[in-house]
Amino acid sequence: MNDTALHQFKRTLLQKRAELEATMQSHRPTSMERCADPYDMAMANAEAETNLKIFKAARKSQFQVAAALDRIERGTYGICRNRHCSQEIPLKRLEAVPEAEHCVECQAHHEHSVSADYALALA
Ligand SMILES: [Zn+2]
Repeated sequence: MNDTALHQFKRTLLQKRAELEATMQSHRPTSMERCADPYDMAMANAEAETNLKIFKAARKSQFQVAAALDRIERGTYGICRNRHCSQEIPLKRLEAVPEAEHCVECQAHHEHSVSADYALALA
């Protein structure tokens, strides 16, 4: 990948990270408030649950974006992380998913273990 493309992806990733930070900020999990009214209580719980889902999804994406920025620094960005593959990830895929760390084929194979990694990292 040439430097121009790399800089472009870095800018996109930095912007994405800022957006995710804003999302996490506005959906920060709140402590449950006790409401006298059971209906209000149920509404508040449902809202807190949705909030938490958005927060967790943003945190997961932010983790992926941070890892991609790290790969830019290390000069391994855009190369499939599967050691047995190590193909360049097509630019079209990176344009769609700038934080992609595997080519499409390996992503399909590794979907399961990758999410296990994230679960560990976020635990
Ligand atoms: Zn691959």
